[in-house]
Amino acid sequence: MALLTALQGGFGDAADALRIDGRTLSREDLLGAATAVADRVAGAPALAVLAQPTVETVTAVVGGLLAGVPVVPLPPDSGPKEREHILRDSGAALLAHAVGEVLPQDTSVAGLPVDPARRSTTSYAEPAAGSTGFVLYTSGTTGAPKGVVIRREAIAADLDALAAAWQWTAEDTLVHGLPLFHVHGLLLGVLGALRTGSGLVHTGRPTPEGYAAAGGSLYFGVPTVWSRLAADPQAAARLAPARLLVSGSAPLPVPVFEKLAALTGHAPIERYGMTESLITVSTRADGERRPGSVGLPVEGVRTRLVGEDGAPVPGDGESVGELQVSGPTLFSGYLNRPDADAEAWTADGWFRTGDVAVIGADGFHRIVGRASVDLIKSGGYRIGAGEVEAALRDHPAVADAAVVGVPDEDLGQAIVAYVIPDGAVTGEQLTAFVAERLSVHKRPRRVVLVPELPRNALGKVLKKQLLTEAGGR
Ligand code: ATP
Ligand code: MG
Repeated sequence: MALLTALQGGFGDAADALRIDGRTLSREDLLGAATAVADRVAGAPALAVLAQPTVETVTAVVGGLLAGVPVVPLPPDSGPKEREHILRDSGAALLAHAVGEVLPQDTSVAGLPVDPARRSTTSYAEPAAGSTGFVLYTSGTTGAPKGVVIRREAIAADLDALAAAWQWTAEDTLVHGLPLFHVHGLLLGVLGALRTGSGLVHTGRPTPEGYAAAGGSLYFGVPTVWSRLAADPQAAARLAPARLLVSGSAPLPVPVFEKLAALTGHAPIERYGMTESLITVSTRADGERRPGSVGLPVEGVRTRLVGEDGAPVPGDGESVGELQVSGPTLFSGYLNRPDADAEAWTADGWFRTGDVAVIGADGFHRIVGRASVDLIKSGGYRIGAGEVEAALRDHPAVADAAVVGVPDEDLGQAIVAYVIPDGAVTGEQLTAFVAERLSVHKRPRRVVLVPELPRNALGKVLKKQLLTEAGGR
């Protein structure tokens, strides 16, 4: 369905459809207030929105989309430099709120306070095919965040695919507490709720208490959210009446999957995707949920594995290759980054995800990690960091683990493991423990015990930072 229809689709039924920052907005009120924003921004080259988790943010985003103006969400906790970069990069002409406080004075943007009490009934038409809906910035896990240009058709394809895969309807209430400047919380979360007509509860922060108290049917979280819930059995048990728990944005460790399933009675669904290809692979609500697997591609999306030599890699459940994607949910290109575009696209128009995966004969996908950091080449072997991490996590006194390949004269790369202990354990004990589970070339040369792993706003482990700490690149 067209994006405009999707945004307007579910309006008018539930009285308290949107609960966010402790306030409640009916769908009718949201549409009226968003249309008032649309009236003011129509014709602007882009609308930048300081994406705090508030009613104003949602109103401004929907307003921009109704008017056909590309929306650029800004991370609220980013510094002035990052914001200025995003604004200049995207050419966003208006900022939704409090612009004087957050931008250097020389940035020529005008503030536009959003008043959710203002209403308009102007009716807008779907803009021309190929119009930009969002410019979303990647998480910057592997380098500087890149502006990803997303057509309105790709957003609509995404929302349709999610509604179908998860049988997401107006009967549902979605709960999440994720940031509103990424695909996960904003595009899939907020717009998904509008598209399906479901209720939405944003918990402000994604805490176990917030999730437990929200009383929804569909829950979104990143793995750190689920791992915290799995460590809080009382809170987790309160998710038992839910219908679906969905994890995305980073790999969900198998022990967390299992604990969560035991405590809530729901095996979680794992979704895989990226800013550039919003939802690539996702288990269906009625499909098999396999720990450690992200399931099958959503309708319309095709995937393939390619080796380093460019040759096809068979989907035999064992061979690893770079995952490439094609389909209607793909982005149109990077903003002002011809270098990144040149790297990302194949001659036949497929997108190189930069992730390494294994596809089974039954089509189930397993994400091994990122080619740039998670594929370790040591002593002539190719080792997936995830396999070593999983072996470490099997130890009862390991809360989490991250593995990197540090440059090494002898081996090319040496495996170094960073482990958050959960109880008394030493590096030597862990080395002995994994020696029973992993062949020699997969065993870490060094195990470093740490209180925390460096992570970004979505809970992704920043491996480049670990590598620098370990004396690497
Ligand atoms: P950058 O592209 O700037 O380095 P990023 O890739 O982390 O940052 P995002 O687009 O937010 O930015 O994240 C997409 C990446 O997250 C994927 O390419 C993949 O590596 C990882 N990812 C997302 N979902 C999953 C999942 N279910 N399992 C494993 N990895 C996942
Ligand atoms: Mg990326």
